[in-house]
Amino acid sequence: MERLAGLFARACHAVVFTGAGVSTESGIPDFRSPGGVWDRYDPGELTWQNFIGSVAGRRRYWEVGRATYPVIRGARPNAAHRGIAELYRRGRLAWCITQNIDNLHQDAGLPPERVIELHGNATRARCLGCGAAFSRDEIHAWLDAGAEVPQCPACGGIVKPLTVLFGEAMPAEAMALAERESCAADLFVVVGSSLVVYPAASMPLHAKRAGATLVIVNLTETPFDARADLVLRARAGEVLDAVVTRLE
Ligand code: NAD
Repeated sequence: MERLAGLFARACHAVVFTGAGVSTESGIPDFRSPGGVWDRYDPGELTWQNFIGSVAGRRRYWEVGRATYPVIRGARPNAAHRGIAELYRRGRLAWCITQNIDNLHQDAGLPPERVIELHGNATRARCLGCGAAFSRDEIHAWLDAGAEVPQCPACGGIVKPLTVLFGEAMPAEAMALAERESCAADLFVVVGSSLVVYPAASMPLHAKRAGATLVIVNLTETPFDARADLVLRARAGEVLDAVVTRLE
């Protein structure tokens, strides 16, 4: 942790890359840990093809959403989100690239324009027909009032959360920006990601190949550990808290 604080103190263009593990301390389960989302739902059901392809696919999606979204809505930033926002405030962080969809980096005070969301954002939705924008809370109010498959009130189109579903194209602009900033990083710190979901997981590789110091903060092993300059097998909140304290 001392070494990581030193790296942040010296870096000119530090980038943090976060995954679901940065939000487990806020009570949002990750995908792959025991008890995580994949123990309870079949990811094969919740695909772009199923969502777009049939009313039954959308009904199932929203059924699962009714169970899972309230956890995201009720979650608050933890020490890791706050530490990352604090690094930015102190001028020690250029960008946060995240695979998360929970909006907690922004809730912790990181300016939205400094957060690159590779997999979208679950707190907002839009109509695929006319583009009308909705808050997720608005849509859940329709579900609570009895709607099984929300439709756009203006045009009757399919309403979809701004998350990237399995099988859906990645957001081109966010991907391009993330690649550019990963290549520009002199310090690239992965926090709470299994680094097995592609193409997001290629970002640390871009950074390392371009000469960045690569640090991985994760509770369990990742396929990139051998290539990292520093691996911290510790909780994200504890590490970020300690790093900010040492920077003081
Ligand atoms: P993942 O579930 O594959 O891996 C999470 C990793 O974090 C695991 O290796 C685990 O050991 C580690 N971890 C868990 N708690 C930790 C902690 N307190 N401190 C440090 N490490 C911790 O998640 P991923 O790599 O982000 O990839 C899976 C996909 O999951 C992403 O596409 C993301 O969109 C999606 N997802 C997001 C959320 C969210 O927004 N909070 C939640 C679940 C899944």
